[in-house]
Amino acid sequence: MTGATGTIGCRSCGGKDLRVFLSLGAMPLSDGFLSSDDLAREEPRYPLDVAFCPDCTLVQILETVPPEQLFGADYPYFSSVTDTLLKHSAANVAARIAERRLDGDSLVVELASNDGYLLQYYRAQGIPVLGIDPAPGPVAAARARGIETLQAFFGSDLATRLAADGRLADVIHANNVLAHVADTNGFVAGIGTLLKEDGVAVIEAPYVKELIDRGEFDTIYHEHLCYFSVTALTRLFQRHGLTLNRVQPLEIHGGSLRLFVGKRAAADPSVAEYLEAEQRAGVDELEYYAGFSARVSRIRRELQALLAGLKQDGARIAGYGAAAKGTILLNFAGLGQETLEFVADRNVHKQGRYIPGVRLPIVSPGRILEAQPDYLLILPWNFKEEIMEQQAEYRRRGGRFIVPVPEPVIL
Ligand SMILES: [Zn+2]
Repeated sequence: MTGATGTIGCRSCGGKDLRVFLSLGAMPLSDGFLSSDDLAREEPRYPLDVAFCPDCTLVQILETVPPEQLFGADYPYFSSVTDTLLKHSAANVAARIAERRLDGDSLVVELASNDGYLLQYYRAQGIPVLGIDPAPGPVAAARARGIETLQAFFGSDLATRLAADGRLADVIHANNVLAHVADTNGFVAGIGTLLKEDGVAVIEAPYVKELIDRGEFDTIYHEHLCYFSVTALTRLFQRHGLTLNRVQPLEIHGGSLRLFVGKRAAADPSVAEYLEAEQRAGVDELEYYAGFSARVSRIRRELQALLAGLKQDGARIAGYGAAAKGTILLNFAGLGQETLEFVADRNVHKQGRYIPGVRLPIVSPGRILEAQPDYLLILPWNFKEEIMEQQAEYRRRGGRFIVPVPEPVIL
């Protein structure tokens, strides 16, 4: 049923009995987009094995790639390029300002603040903000729009320094970062240190139940060290004197959770509801994850067969969206230049580069109408509505879309 036992301890509880239930093989770094100079060199590859901890229920990958390699000077992700994400952030900020009655004396801190895509909405309302992010490119972009940003990895030490300076937060945002940090416990301890007594940490993380139920294997990559359930999170927060007080489901990124965490216990019914639902579904047991590997293999087989059939009929196919999940999907399914002509992406920082591993060229979306391929394989399927809307002219001219997950379909 399951594979080997892991060799490292659990990232949350330190348990030694990790059970591997999925191996994606040796994968390149999903955001390691290559320049034309890089093409002459072999890329580093790292195993991608996913395991369940029977002691605390946390799902996690075994390999930890050093963060400097993952989030170095070339880290190409600028949040502001996604319209969906900006709308989601603006609504999040408006709700927090109303709920917490934030004003000019408050402080909002965002961990992994990127280019200030979220904090800009607080700043526009005159609320003091502080961003923290390790990647120099996005930090420079945030500073250029006037958002104070520390270029650093967040953890216990930095939180202690900020607290000593009297910089305690009313609200801490941490979107899609908790799963990325190698020192999970140091990060959560830091949140406890940085938070005011009545403050709230608003944390967004992909939900492991959605990942498993929807076959979203391509959201597993080296940046994502942990895959959280509410059961596992409750135990993690408790260890650091924090309480999970509210859970909200989010559709973004293919099914995420927004978690409200504080120092005072004031849980609303949502927390117990999630815990009970997870227990009913068995999310807290290894058996729940056992069939996932077979399902992932089936998605790969079906996608390969679909694309091969189209190619055989003389169809021309390109990809859309040089997202991290696209790197995993293309490499896992072995889809390179014999299948796809190019991958189009709106992010100018990615254009002119190549997808890691399969080395497909990344071009501007303008190229789609020039080349008019018969099919566009949408790699960031979580933004498929937005992408199909943007590519209405392509569709009007007869172009069609393929979505690979949860199962390959032509739309
Ligand atoms: Zn554990």
